Amino acid sequence: MSRIARAGLDRIPTYAPQPLDGVDLDLRDNVNLWGAPPHAMAALRAADPLLLTQYPSVGATRLIDTLATSLGVRASEVVAGCGSDDLIDACFRAVASPGDRVAHADPSFSMVPVFARLNHLEPVGVPLLQNGATDIDGMLATGARIMYLCSPNNPTGTVTPASEVRRLIREAPGIVVIDEAYAEFAPETDWRVEAPAMERVFVLRTFSKAWGLAGLRVGYGVGASALVESVIRSRGPYKVNALADRVAAVAVEQDSAWMQQVARETREYRDRLNTLVRGRVGIRPWDSRGNFVFWEVADDATQLAARFQARGIGVRAFRGLRGIGDALRIGMAPWDQLTRVASMIEELWP
Ligand code: PMP
Repeated sequence: MSRIARAGLDRIPTYAPQPLDGVDLDLRDNVNLWGAPPHAMAALRAADPLLLTQYPSVGATRLIDTLATSLGVRASEVVAGCGSDDLIDACFRAVASPGDRVAHADPSFSMVPVFARLNHLEPVGVPLLQNGATDIDGMLATGARIMYLCSPNNPTGTVTPASEVRRLIREAPGIVVIDEAYAEFAPETDWRVEAPAMERVFVLRTFSKAWGLAGLRVGYGVGASALVESVIRSRGPYKVNALADRVAAVAVEQDSAWMQQVARETREYRDRLNTLVRGRVGIRPWDSRGNFVFWEVADDATQLAARFQARGIGVRAFRGLRGIGDALRIGMAPWDQLTRVASMIEELWP
């Protein structure tokens, strides 16, 4: 029988989250459980049917203009995609040739090695340092064409200090991708305005987390015009649909205060849960700056997650993370829902 798929494709994992039986509080995906931004929702309800019958702009012009204005950069320095996933994928394809390497922390965002392999690149995982920080020297030592840095890092929540990011940018031989999917929760981290002047730096943001629009599928990247132009070429046209272009632009224009308030509450509850956990036996909270807590656990994380599930709560279990072991990642929500997580802390780690 002749082969259908390209050689090796079946060895690249597909992203297939399991539906969770009996869960009414799903905290696995770090999405915004406060809801969708109010003005964006109103724009969605009021949408003109022409947004559906006509093609959208090729590259989400409305959103790009709005973002460029709000950041004080040029429209040619911003690119949007079908989630930031799309832009990781497009960027990898745009700047690296088959066989090139992509260095990333291990653990970091699980789709990075997948997108690397899908684009015929070689992912190189670099273990975190003993203190949980991303190992910049280790990344540089790979000599990779692409240095992918996630800050705050998913799943650990750790932020890479500005001086370390600058060193990575200065010494990297190729392109540095800074994934700021969770940066709205860590305002000390923002490379968007500096990126266009740095030529080889591509900064990624998403509307899926703080902005509460994961289902809309919109992300964007900021960088120098030449880099952005190459990502646009490799991404292809019409990746942001007309509703997404309009609704995300309205969110940026009118829902910023709403988003900031959600981010403030998120940080407060994250730190409150970590305070509850600190000092208990068998569990250690990391200093997460994302919209999730990350708890290193002594017991089997899958079994612990099952105990949460038995109480209707979905949490992400990690088994045998490199240099860490087992861990749980739990997204934030309004406090009246998180009290259920607080009860679980008492139950599992008394
Ligand atoms: N980067 C990181 C670090 C993420 O955690 C995620 C989503 N989990 C993404 C990118 C992709 O986000 P989206 O495609 O929804 O914009």
